Amino acid sequence: MDDEFCGNLLDHLHDGIYFVDLDRRITYWNLAAERIAGYRSSEVVGKRCRDNLLIHIDDSGATLCDSGSCPLERSIAGGTEEEKEAYLRHRDGHRVPVLIRTFPLRDPKGKTVGAVEIFSDNSSGTAFLHRIEELQKMTILDHLTGLPNRRYIEMNLDARLSEMQRYGWPFGVLFIDIDHFKNINDAYGHATGDDVLRMIAQTFINNSRPFDTIGRWGGEEFVAVILNVQGDVLCGIADRLRMLIEQSSLIAGETTIRVTISIGATLACREDTIETLLQRADRLMYRSKASGRNCVSTDSGA
Ligand code: GH3
Ligand code: MG
Ligand code: MG
Repeated sequence: MDDEFCGNLLDHLHDGIYFVDLDRRITYWNLAAERIAGYRSSEVVGKRCRDNLLIHIDDSGATLCDSGSCPLERSIAGGTEEEKEAYLRHRDGHRVPVLIRTFPLRDPKGKTVGAVEIFSDNSSGTAFLHRIEELQKMTILDHLTGLPNRRYIEMNLDARLSEMQRYGWPFGVLFIDIDHFKNINDAYGHATGDDVLRMIAQTFINNSRPFDTIGRWGGEEFVAVILNVQGDVLCGIADRLRMLIEQSSLIAGETTIRVTISIGATLACREDTIETLLQRADRLMYRSKASGRNCVSTDSGA
C-alpha cells in the first residue's frame, strides 16, 4: 500500500486519526480530525499536540497533557493501547466530548517511533446516555425493554396536549399492539417472548426521530408520540415502523421468529384529554386487527 492510498483510506473514516512522533509532534491528521476538531491538517502538522492545540481535559477539568495521563504519552512510554473519554478544545473554542484510543507506532524492528490517536465524537452518545440516566433516576424506564414506561408516556402526552392547547403545535399518537403474541409465548416460551419484546423495542429505538417518543404501554402494547406532523406524515411514520418490525427477526436455535404489529394512528386535537386521545388510537388499532393485522388504521384522512 502506498502513502497516497493509505491517506485516501484514512480520509474516508468517520473517526479522527492523527499520528505523532516520539516528541508528540503531529505528522499526519485526517479529514475527520479536521471536522471534529476544526483544525486543518496544514495548521497542525509539525506542531506538538500539547502546544496549546487540543488541550484535552478529563471529567474533572484536569488537563491530560500536563498530568501524565496523556494517552499518547502512555502509549509511547509503555508501548500500551490506551482508551479514555475526554474533551478536546475545538478550534472555535468550545469543548467536544471524544472517546480516544491510542496505540504505539513501531518500525519494522519493533522499536516505538511514535503513536496513533483515534478519536470519535461522543456528543450524541453522551447526550443520549445522560438522558437515559435521567430517565432511570426518575424510574420512568421500562425494565424489560429499556423504553420509556407508561408513566413517562402519560407525562409526555400531558405536556404535549398543554402545548397544543397553548401554541397549536400539532402531534399524533400511534397505538401499537403485537399480533398473535400469545402464540409466540405458547410456541417458544415466555423468555423468548421477552426477547421478542426487546427486539421490537430496539427496532423502535433505532428508528425513531430524536424528538419522538415510543414507550411500552404495558404487556405487548406500545404508544408512540409523534411530534410536529400532519396526517399523511403520521401514517408514513407508522407504516415505516410496521414494515421495520415485519422485517426484524430473532434467531432462536433452528428457527427464525418474526412478528407483525397492528397500529392505530390519530392526530391530537385541542379538545382531547389523554384518555380520549388514547381511546381513539386504541379503537383504530382494533380496526387494524379486524382488517387482518399487520396494518395501520387512521382517522386523519390520509
Ligand atoms: P392479537 O393479535 O389479537 O393482539 O393477539 P395476542 O395474542 O397478541 O393478544 P392477547 O392480548 O390475547 O395476548 C397478549 C399476550 O402478551 C398475552 C401475554 O402472555 C403476553 N405478554 C404480555 N406481557 C408480556 C411480557 O412481558 N412478556 C411476555 N413474554 N409475554 C407477555
Ligand atoms: Mg394486546
Ligand atoms: Mg397482541
